[in-house]
Amino acid sequence: LTAAISPDSLPTRRAQAMGGKLAPLFYRRPLEIVRGEGPWLHARDGARYLDAYNNVAVIGHTHPAVTQAVSSQLAQLNTHSRYLHAGIVELSERILATMPAPLDTVLFTTSGTEANELAWRLATEYTGAGAAVIAEHAYHGASKWMADLSSNEWPAGYRPAHVATFEAPHGPAHELTEIVAAERIHRADETLRAAGERPALVLADSQFTSEGILDVPGEFVAGLVTGAHTAGALYLADEVQSGYGRSGPRLWRFLLAGVTPDLVTLGKPMGAGYPIGAVVTRREIADALAGSYEYFSTFAATPAAAAAGHAVLDVLSLTGLPARAAATGTALREGLRALAAEEPLLGEVRGTGLLAGIDVRGSGASTSREVTRALLSELVGQGVLAGSTGPRGDVLKVRPPLVWEDKHVSQFLERLRRALAQLRA
Ligand code: PMP
Repeated sequence: LTAAISPDSLPTRRAQAMGGKLAPLFYRRPLEIVRGEGPWLHARDGARYLDAYNNVAVIGHTHPAVTQAVSSQLAQLNTHSRYLHAGIVELSERILATMPAPLDTVLFTTSGTEANELAWRLATEYTGAGAAVIAEHAYHGASKWMADLSSNEWPAGYRPAHVATFEAPHGPAHELTEIVAAERIHRADETLRAAGERPALVLADSQFTSEGILDVPGEFVAGLVTGAHTAGALYLADEVQSGYGRSGPRLWRFLLAGVTPDLVTLGKPMGAGYPIGAVVTRREIADALAGSYEYFSTFAATPAAAAAGHAVLDVLSLTGLPARAAATGTALREGLRALAAEEPLLGEVRGTGLLAGIDVRGSGASTSREVTRALLSELVGQGVLAGSTGPRGDVLKVRPPLVWEDKHVSQFLERLRRALAQLRA
């Protein structure tokens, strides 16, 4: 059956069978990717693309360590977590060894959404409150509860009564102090209290990715934590995007900020594509839910998920990828800044570890969003897959597998230069 699929008809068939509007594809001419390998993605037509976008594959596409660990576990046993299994206990212990005290408990899920939703539930049980404070243009997941906590997804005019927002850390570092952040949370808390609500949770993506990939100083994050605690809420560091070495040299972005969150959520790269996510918290917070409920999710914490989780941590630690990501990311941003200095379409460059956001400017009658879209298409033409983010969709998002080497940075910069030239032509 697969052989009968013609690439030309696949987009049409997808739209017919799966709906087009709710789940749009990337790029003007959608790509059919059939194989991945390290930092490369291969299309059915034989074209090879440098992956500058995919975060799930932090250790590179189809890493043999994951393939072998998962397939041999699948061949032996894969069942739910109501039985004892050493693999999942050991994975919990390994994750906790990377976290600061007093974080001492891991609860597994199958996605970042589910992890944030569980964290939200824990926070409401623990505090007895029912509201949340999030950043403007935040993204935390796809369930109904998490869509309400994802201001970036709200339709115009929509704002749930139990949610208040704070201004994300745009602007120069010296203006983003602890006091400024704590005041932003305080104002959000006042808005909620005026509506008869109290916050259970203040949550933020540790790298403010959907907000535009922001350079957030540690003091600002410290202010979010103090602001949360002053308001009687818990602080959740959403590490679904920024975690697992992306913010090298550390494994977790919040460690660079020097704070200790009450809850941390993990996902995306955790199983290199095998679905696994987690909430890391303190025992007393986990136990607040245990008083009234139990927590069980059929596909969370299976032996195969644990095998994938171990393989990812093995590769990250054995190859020193987080440290390499820090060096490669610095070279990437330096190269981008040099390019932006001579390129009117490019503006500010931001990011930590192997993550870069570049502001793209409008040109003539084209808005900055339109120019960004056009640039992404030109990059595809040059054999590079990148993305866009930010409130206006005009931040070029470079978030490659951490296996990128300096030569991939050079290839990317060269191809970006050519894509920009094509855009002007
Ligand atoms: N939080 C953040 C910061 C994310 O970027 C995402 C996914 N883009 C999620 C949560 C949700 O994760 P998932 O898609 O695995 O449910």
